[in-house]
Amino acid sequence: MKIETIAIHAGNHVDESSKAVIQPIVLSTTFERAADGTYPGGHIYSRSSNPNRTLLENVLAKLEGGADAASFSSGNAAGMAVFQSLTPGTHIIAPDDMYHGLRNQLKTLFAGILTFDFIDVNNPETLQSHIRPETGLIWIETPSNPLLKITDIRKVVAIAKAKGIKVACDNTFATPICQQPLALGADLVMHSATKYFGGHSDLMGGALVTKENSDWWSKIRQVQGMGGAIPSPMDCYMLTRSIKTLPYRMRGHVHNAQLLAEFLEKHPKVEAVMYPGLPSHPQHAIAKEQMSAFGGMLSFTLKGGEAEARSVINGLKIFTRATSLGGVESLIEHRATVEGPDTKTPFNLLRVSVGLEHIDDLIADLEQALA
Ligand SMILES: *Cc1c(COP(=O)(O)O)cnc(C)c1O
Repeated sequence: MKIETIAIHAGNHVDESSKAVIQPIVLSTTFERAADGTYPGGHIYSRSSNPNRTLLENVLAKLEGGADAASFSSGNAAGMAVFQSLTPGTHIIAPDDMYHGLRNQLKTLFAGILTFDFIDVNNPETLQSHIRPETGLIWIETPSNPLLKITDIRKVVAIAKAKGIKVACDNTFATPICQQPLALGADLVMHSATKYFGGHSDLMGGALVTKENSDWWSKIRQVQGMGGAIPSPMDCYMLTRSIKTLPYRMRGHVHNAQLLAEFLEKHPKVEAVMYPGLPSHPQHAIAKEQMSAFGGMLSFTLKGGEAEARSVINGLKIFTRATSLGGVESLIEHRATVEGPDTKTPFNLLRVSVGLEHIDDLIADLEQALA
């Protein structure tokens, strides 16, 4: 089946008892046993599994082409489950441009438990030289947040496989509509479902999808069930509902982002635009190889500094000044401020989550704010 069909059907089925076309929200925390002590409904207790979560995990696994998926209460909880599943002492290689929340999680919560290097994973020599006997995981994020750097997934996988190292990919920016890391050889995909999967800036969620069932995956499932950082039945329902329109929403985000990037690139007050769909992007060729579309996120720098950047965001009327991404409304933010004192993000950089408003209105708004 094609991805549009999977998105609509793999997270829903007609309810057997009521014949409701849309899966009911099952709020019950506990499920009745049969006289012989078994659980004929397939569920025991909602921390372990719940009908809405089972459907959500089914559609997530199918969208990424994986064997199984586990959903979490946030993207960070999903990332944390990966790190918690590793044996203490494991060394992780992670990118130098990475979602700051997960980088900070490693540096604070996992200091003394795991070891890590934040490096340019795209440079094969750099990557090779950081591999140690205890390296167990290479974490990648492509396109990256906030510089929209592209990591060549196949290349990293080839280096990792030769040494028996696992590869996990944060696919939040691309979504499975634009990129499928498991098909390119990655072992695990991570998502902040808060972003494009939710798509309406009104729920938090996270997901992991595995290429195959393995001991490592069983450990991750244990972290999910015993740790209990699970999404509520209501959030699972909201997610499966939103995912039905994900393929069509992504088309709109991609269309608008490409046109906005092209407009910004030609503007005399703009220094540089970072969008993998622009031929000027240094890794445009890799992006074209491994992505079917370039996503809805872009960053740009202004000629000048922080003051020039702030004056642009403060002059906008349609774009909202806020962090996060993936919703139908366009958001813009001064990323360095959000990331805090140890940020390497340039102070003249603005990150844009391009929404689904009409592109003419978005361009007109930026045109007047830049004037
Ligand atoms: C938002 C985000 C996360 C964290 O997800 P939460 O749902 O906020 O916990 C991880 N990675 C990327 C790329 C993100 O944008």
